[in-house]
Amino acid sequence: MGDVEKIVIIGSGPAGWTAAIYAARAMLDPVLLEGVPKQNGGYVLPGGQLMLTTEVENYPGYPEGIDGPKMMADFKKQAQRFDTRIEARDVVRCDFSTRPFTLETRNGSGDEKTVTAHAVIIASGATANWIGLDNERRLATSGGGVSACAVCDGALPVFRDQVLVVVGGGDTAMEEASYLTKFASKVYIVHRRDSLRASKVMQDRVLKNPKAQVIWNSVVTDVLGDEMISGVRLKDVETGLERDFECKGLFLAIGHTPATAFLEGSGIELDDKKYLKLTAAQRMNTSIEGVFAAGDVADSTYRQAVTAAGMGCQAALDAERWLAEQGK
Ligand code: NAP
Repeated sequence: MGDVEKIVIIGSGPAGWTAAIYAARAMLDPVLLEGVPKQNGGYVLPGGQLMLTTEVENYPGYPEGIDGPKMMADFKKQAQRFDTRIEARDVVRCDFSTRPFTLETRNGSGDEKTVTAHAVIIASGATANWIGLDNERRLATSGGGVSACAVCDGALPVFRDQVLVVVGGGDTAMEEASYLTKFASKVYIVHRRDSLRASKVMQDRVLKNPKAQVIWNSVVTDVLGDEMISGVRLKDVETGLERDFECKGLFLAIGHTPATAFLEGSGIELDDKKYLKLTAAQRMNTSIEGVFAAGDVADSTYRQAVTAAGMGCQAALDAERWLAEQGK
């Protein structure tokens, strides 16, 4: 076991890198555990959800838009400029029951290392759920018209005045469908049952919108198209019949999974959907004093790069103050 670190940041999306920039500039000498590089169906991690995004148009400061992976590389460079120490390790287990905190980590070769820290910022993110079709993943990473975030991608020119499909029946699907009706010629919501999960008010907004229509009792069984999506194959779950349905965009809104599995048994409080619970208004504190959270791992509502970065900044400032109070 090495020396006790002042602060360790877990995660390498906008929240993690921003926390590192602030912590490093505050002379806290942070270590950022960015995760082991993984190639998963065309996705290259670490770097978070932005590694799956082609063009980011809504992050202020990039008037022409920027590629998601390029943006994450720039965030990393900025954190390195202030001497953040970066390690390509996954955290597999945490013990927050005693201080300093203990993090069991593993590198790409499976070598384990225990890292100890006075303060921890968890910024491990959440991943969008996908149906799991080959073409879905391929077209999502190549800018082929498949996305898991309408707010991020829906305004791109490629979707203007086109027929678009949203999959899901929850609040996110309703919100995304409503948003997309501003640009699309028509938005079809494909839902696997005959009633929506979304709240009544969100349902009503969509069901009353003449540009939106629900296709009930249906699932997407294939995504059609080579470079760009040309349609989806829909299966009626009641009759089993399949048909090809033309569309120029596919938006998945079938939930997110927060990256909190490594926190099981650590004693930290999660909510019923396994997101980290923030325990103080306007603060990034978790249920464990000295452990802070930032970004999508603690935010199932906004899930934007800019909000995650803001939370990263807040978490670093909260941690800095807390460490000072502890005389560390
Ligand atoms: P969600 O409530 O879990 O809904 C996911 C939807 O996707 C469900 O309709 C589900 O179908 C469907 N689904 C799941 N897996 C599927 C699959 N493999 N194939 C096809 N469909 C699948 O997730 P969410 O809509 O992202 O909402 C998450 C939380 O955020 C909720 O608590 C929600 O209220 C909240 N939220 C609130 C707002 C707001 O108030 N403005 C906006 C967005 C989200 P079933 O219904 O059949 O299970």
